[in-house]
Amino acid sequence: MNSIADPKHILQTVFGYDEFRHNQQQIIEEVLEGKDAVVLMPTGGGKSLCYQVPALCLPGVTIVVSPLIALMKDQVDALKVNGIKAEFLNSTQNTSEQAFIFQQLKANELKLLYIAPERLLGNETQFIKYLQQINVSLFAIDEAHCISQWGHDFRPEYLVLGQLKEHFPTLPVIALTATADALTQKDIIDKLRFTQYKVFENSFNRPNIYYYVKPKKNYYEELTNYLSDHKNDSGIIYCLSRTSTERLAEDLKADGFNAEAYHAGLDKSIREERQNKFLKDDIQIIVATIAFGMGINKSNVRFVVHIDLPKNIEGYYQETGRAGRDGLHSEALLFYSAGDVLKLKKFAEVEGNQEQTKIMLAKLDKISRFCETKTCRRKYLLNYFGEDAPDYCGSCDTCLNKPVLKEATVIAQKILSAVARLRESFGMRYVVDVLKGSNTEKMREEHKSLSVYGIGKDMPKEEWMHYTKELLHFQYLEQSEGQYPVLKLTQKGKDVLFKKEHVYLTAPVHIEIPNEPVVYQQHPYDKDLFEKLKQLRNKIAHEENVPPYIIFSDSTLLDLATYLPLTESDLLKISGFGTFKTQKYGQQFLNTIQDYCFEHKLETQINLKQPKEERKHKLVSATERNSDTKRVSFTLFKQGKTIAEIAEERNLSINTIESHLSYFVTLGDLEINDLVDSNKQKAIKKAIEIYGASNGLKVLKENLPEEITYGEIKMVLAVRDRGQ
Ligand code: ADP
Ligand code: ZN
Repeated sequence: MNSIADPKHILQTVFGYDEFRHNQQQIIEEVLEGKDAVVLMPTGGGKSLCYQVPALCLPGVTIVVSPLIALMKDQVDALKVNGIKAEFLNSTQNTSEQAFIFQQLKANELKLLYIAPERLLGNETQFIKYLQQINVSLFAIDEAHCISQWGHDFRPEYLVLGQLKEHFPTLPVIALTATADALTQKDIIDKLRFTQYKVFENSFNRPNIYYYVKPKKNYYEELTNYLSDHKNDSGIIYCLSRTSTERLAEDLKADGFNAEAYHAGLDKSIREERQNKFLKDDIQIIVATIAFGMGINKSNVRFVVHIDLPKNIEGYYQETGRAGRDGLHSEALLFYSAGDVLKLKKFAEVEGNQEQTKIMLAKLDKISRFCETKTCRRKYLLNYFGEDAPDYCGSCDTCLNKPVLKEATVIAQKILSAVARLRESFGMRYVVDVLKGSNTEKMREEHKSLSVYGIGKDMPKEEWMHYTKELLHFQYLEQSEGQYPVLKLTQKGKDVLFKKEHVYLTAPVHIEIPNEPVVYQQHPYDKDLFEKLKQLRNKIAHEENVPPYIIFSDSTLLDLATYLPLTESDLLKISGFGTFKTQKYGQQFLNTIQDYCFEHKLETQINLKQPKEERKHKLVSATERNSDTKRVSFTLFKQGKTIAEIAEERNLSINTIESHLSYFVTLGDLEINDLVDSNKQKAIKKAIEIYGASNGLKVLKENLPEEITYGEIKMVLAVRDRGQ
């Protein structure tokens, strides 16, 4: 293979990406060897590159079969801005436009041609005959599940694709879909008459989508708060009925949001206009029935809200899957009420078909269980689709709202001393009433003069109750037997009062959705510059009359605002800047970044973005030096220096020194008690019990009080590994 046709080279120069994702590379190699492939990848996984890269490597044209006209145009626009010769053929074009495309096909000038399936074998197969005369290299079948009667999107037109193998026995065919189930998969293989093929499966997990379920009671206020926190983001809100989409859109507009309704009952022209405006970021929020979304390729949908319960998990997953195609942080929010389940039960009734009704009801039951589960929602979804998943994902509401251990020494001291002052003769409610300084009839006069009376006014009663229960749970307190149990101090509780032992308790749970998007980047990005770059991108997009995400994705802009490239060669290191786009748009983006950096006295950070090869090299040499550097820290510690002093002296972070020392804890050369406070050790052990050691340090760190460091967690884990 010469260097021009090398897939990796094409990926980097034409598309401007560093590396293949998932199993893109294997898929592409399979296709280039002339074999058939079935590709199962979730939305946003990167299916298109699996045939677009081969299309550029192969000598002839690649024919892409796609079910939706809107999608075709979007894809072709995206290819054209990368300088790739691509076109589509459909009924919206006039004869002269079509003639021009045929002319280019004949001259072998096109690399990709998008068509609808009926075109391929319509008109008594004339088009097929035509294709046999020109240089076709590959067939790609997008949304291949449409060929299956088992799927939820069956399209009879797709059945004609079964004849492809007959007419082009030697050409490879690649079938792609985001639908996972085994029945559909088998159907695709049968109907397309594949014999020599491989199936490429990927996890259907969408790690960048955060899942939240909230009670539906008074949802409007919750919704508008949420939208106010997402002022600059695009999103879709799904409702069950047409009227409710219209009503909600009106309400939101009246409250100052840029929202429009969308449903199948609207005029075609209105629907098209609203869809286009949404794609172009001119409408920010679409309030829609499920009629909206199929064929929406918009990559920067940041949130999907369900006001009403979806009918099944399949629908929910497909609709929420429209968020975050660009791989950036996105959210799925569902408002749940048990009343919705009852309402949907009526709809699930399929008249005269008991079997079907049973299936629908079972599916409804599964989605309502999803809403009611106390365990990880992501795990529930993946298990539903037959995939394994860990118990904790850290990015759904049930995981995020797992109880968090917090330093609660002062709170504990207040409760315990109230118990002591009341001579261990009163029950939980009374103790809390004393702390709150309650003035009811039940409150005895002599207790109003106690020093603990009213010292807990600053915290709600429920929280005092919560912490008192926690103290019972962790055995700082015990309760007497009998009808009127009273609280008593244990030895552990007395140690807190008299020896000033630290106490860690789990905090009460508040369900909160963070209003700042969590962007998992190694380095921080400049928010104002990011907004400026968005404006520039939108201006270019309007001039070229394409949606902004086609010019550059949000993740490309985020990279720019992080690494601040100042020269053209810097730009080529940014994901999404291929040669063509760099030539065409590079200077405009550089100008904006240069001006911004000059004005704010910022320097480029592009050196942080090394090509992968160099990074690997660095890592190797770092490991070689690693054991020496650990020993230096160890020796200094043995000489009596504190961790902070060693960090200062060696110009390294405290974290690093702690992790050096944890190595010697594992070896048994250092005692953990010299390094970590015993109560901190307890808190960490508790967290390991709750969250497990295998879910990673980050999970433990996030669920422990802030003052407990990564290093301290590592040390406790190290002792565990030593088997103590
Ligand atoms: P799908 O068709 O599977 O839903 P797309 O093909 O539209 O997904 O790809 C989703 C996004 O990911 C697009 O913006 C695409 O350019 C980007 N992408 C795909 N592969 C890569 C890669 N290897 N590196 C970086 N970005 C990629
Ligand atoms: Zn989870």
